[in-house]
Amino acid sequence: MPEPIFKRLCLIGIGLIGSSIALRAKRDGLAETIVISTRRKETLKRAEELGLGDQYTDQISEAVAGADCVILCTPVGTCAAIAERMAPHLADGVIVSDVGSVKRSVVEQIKPHLSKTAHLVPGHPIAGTEESGPDAGFATLFDNRWCLLTPETGTSPDAVMKIRKFWEAMGSMVDEMDPDHHDRVLAVTSHIPHLIAYNIVGTASDLEEVSQSEVIKFSASGFRDFTRIAASDPVMWRDVFLHNKDAVLEMLGRFSEDLSALQKAVRWGDGDLLQEHFTKTREIRRGIIDAGQETDAPNFGRGQTDET
Ligand code: NAP
Repeated sequence: MPEPIFKRLCLIGIGLIGSSIALRAKRDGLAETIVISTRRKETLKRAEELGLGDQYTDQISEAVAGADCVILCTPVGTCAAIAERMAPHLADGVIVSDVGSVKRSVVEQIKPHLSKTAHLVPGHPIAGTEESGPDAGFATLFDNRWCLLTPETGTSPDAVMKIRKFWEAMGSMVDEMDPDHHDRVLAVTSHIPHLIAYNIVGTASDLEEVSQSEVIKFSASGFRDFTRIAASDPVMWRDVFLHNKDAVLEMLGRFSEDLSALQKAVRWGDGDLLQEHFTKTREIRRGIIDAGQETDAPNFGRGQTDET
């Protein structure tokens, strides 16, 4: 087994992402000790039953004390409150990271609370499922998935290198980018697709002329794929939209314009435009499959670890 990357790794929040990190870190000996902390006693108890860590506490102060790496694995809206509570108890030289799906807001929430001796290296593994909670995790969730790091210029290169090494050991491919750029890219590749899924599933279930049972009974594959995405954790996704408002609204503006163009093509029977558009989008899916980020297996690779 390779040398552990961290002596005392503290995971705050032990849902899908936290438990997947814990399982992989334990499996491959990436930390000498894994400390798990979460808000609700039931969740902490379940994490212990599952053997996800070595130590368990609902006291953040106790959890972070002496840790050389703390990773926040909670909804993005919780970061400021957690950072404020943990800051006085952090060890000198600690690396503070997170897994949040939005990055600028996370930096703004955590940074003001950290002392100069702490190194903030935010991260976002682009891997997930629509499941949540400590039972949902699995050690291979991050295999062959990207993990994006968004450290600010001037962050200790050693700290960035350690987090990079950690995510590579999780099975991920790692890239670095500016937090604002991250938020714009993810707005279009992940956040807006979720909003569309939440919207279409809501619209279908609200339609008066189509009964609920018909929606379920005759759900075609396109709609079924949307329902999978729309089953994602409501709190996590509420926080994503509250904390990536600007980028989402900007990209949504573009999306609405493009949708209007398609609407016009449908109205005027412009088959050429529709076919040309659908041919282009088909190529994009082929590109994603070629890049190893999706399978061309039937059923749209359902069961794969899609970023949600
Ligand atoms: P999850 O399964 O719902 O787990 C969330 C965890 O956060 C639970 O342990 C929960 O603890 C804890 N928590 C919730 N509210 C809290 C609060 N106010 N204070 C302290 N702890 C709190 O969520 P997840 O899917 O692992 O997502 C965690 C983070 O990963 C989010 O920031 C999300 O944006 C990011 N992410 C998710 C995905 C995905 O596909 N799911 C992918 C990439 C990144 P209790 O049960 O004790 O309340």
